[in-house]
Amino acid sequence: MDRTLTEKQEALIGSLLTEKDVPEAFRASLGRISALTLPEASRAIDALFRFPKKQDHIQKAQRQLTDLHNALNAIPLSYYAIPMDDIGFALTTTKGDNDYLFIQVTQNTRTKRRNLNQIHGSPGGFWKSSLRREDSLVILRHVATDSQKFALLFAEKHEVCGKCGADLTDPESRRLKFGPTCRKAWGL
Ligand SMILES: [Zn+2]
Repeated sequence: MDRTLTEKQEALIGSLLTEKDVPEAFRASLGRISALTLPEASRAIDALFRFPKKQDHIQKAQRQLTDLHNALNAIPLSYYAIPMDDIGFALTTTKGDNDYLFIQVTQNTRTKRRNLNQIHGSPGGFWKSSLRREDSLVILRHVATDSQKFALLFAEKHEVCGKCGADLTDPESRRLKFGPTCRKAWGL
C-alpha cells in the first residue's frame, strides 16, 4: 500500500490551492488532501504548479470577503442605529434615514452565514435593502467599537428591543431597552 502524503506536501498543496487559479473540477478531484497517497500528492503538486497565479483582483475580492465575514462575526446579531455624522463621510453610496443609518446583522439558521442589511421604515413595517461591500465593512467596524451603544440607539429611536425589534412589555426591559433574553448578549 502507498504511504500517505508528507506534512510538507500537504502544506505545499494548501498554499498552491490558495495562490493558483485552480478550476473547481480539479479541486474536487483532489478530494480530502490529508487522504492522498504520496504519489498522488506528488502528481497533484506537479499539476498545481502548472496552473496560473490568481489575479490580484480575485485575491483582493477574497480578502474583502474574509474581512466582511470576520467583521460580521465580531458583533452580536442585532439591530443597530449609527448617526450619519459618525460615518457618512466614509460611505460611498449609502444614505441614512433621518440622519441615522439603521442596520441589522442576521444569521441564516441553516447555513449559519451572517448577513448585513440596511433597515428602513418603522416597527411592524421594517423593510431591508442590501449594502455595498465597501460600505458594509466601514459600518461593521464602526459598530464594533461599541456595539451595545449602537443597539441602544436603535432601541431609543424605534422604542423597541434594540437587539430583536420586539415590543418591550415590562418596566425592566423598557429601562434597559432590551428584552430579557436579548440583553444577555451584552451581559446586562
Ligand atoms: Zn429582544
